Amino acid sequence: MGSCMTLPLYGTASQSKGFSSNKARSVLRLRSIESNAERHVADFALARTPEEVQRAIVADWPSIFVIADSPIDLPGTFKGRLVAVPPKYDYLADGDIIGFDHVSRKFRTLYRRNSAHNSFLVTERCNNYCLMCSQPPKDVDDRWILSEIKESLPLVDSATRALTFTGGETLSDWEDFIAVLKECRDHLPGTEIQVLTNGRAFADSRKNVIAATRRPPAADSLQPDARASVAAYARSLPNETN
Ligand code: SF4
Repeated sequence: MGSCMTLPLYGTASQSKGFSSNKARSVLRLRSIESNAERHVADFALARTPEEVQRAIVADWPSIFVIADSPIDLPGTFKGRLVAVPPKYDYLADGDIIGFDHVSRKFRTLYRRNSAHNSFLVTERCNNYCLMCSQPPKDVDDRWILSEIKESLPLVDSATRALTFTGGETLSDWEDFIAVLKECRDHLPGTEIQVLTNGRAFADSRKNVIAATRRPPAADSLQPDARASVAAYARSLPNETN
């Protein structure tokens, strides 16, 4: 009989090197050392042993992501980027995408290629106040998350069956968010897109995610337009209309 386990989806890297101080964060994509796919600047060879680290260096990978329980000794000739994380993140695999903070070394797993249930958190802000909210809104400036998602999308496997966008209220920064959805429509034509929203923004037709991202009738798409799911218990704050 199968068993369920909760995967650790965020943490702090035990080691990092080679990241620019001009930028606060990077999006990384993990690749198997033997991958023949064209290398993207975000790609990191995934190694689990000192021998695999050596193989990645020989294969001329400029960036290496290591899952190991002991510090990694790199030869002085290696001038690229390194991130090392503890063995509890052993589930990470080829094609997975990580968000990485250069200074704090904190990281989050943004996308798992082998998962059928990938979702991007868009913001923790919301203009509603549902009594039973499992994730009460925060008054924070987290607009950087949308930039991170935008950077991640070109790295997502085009064979991904479904992607969900959740919050907070996903339409808090509606113009930027709809631009992200349009990128999904154009770059992931075979992917089912679902948006969780409290629906209040739909009072303004410009913010209707379905209309704004509609595929042209002749589009050679495997999927229908984006689908919006509205929480049935969404409730307005007093004196607010949308
Ligand atoms: S709309 Fe969603 S995120 Fe906003 S308060 Fe309600 S349940 Fe929470």
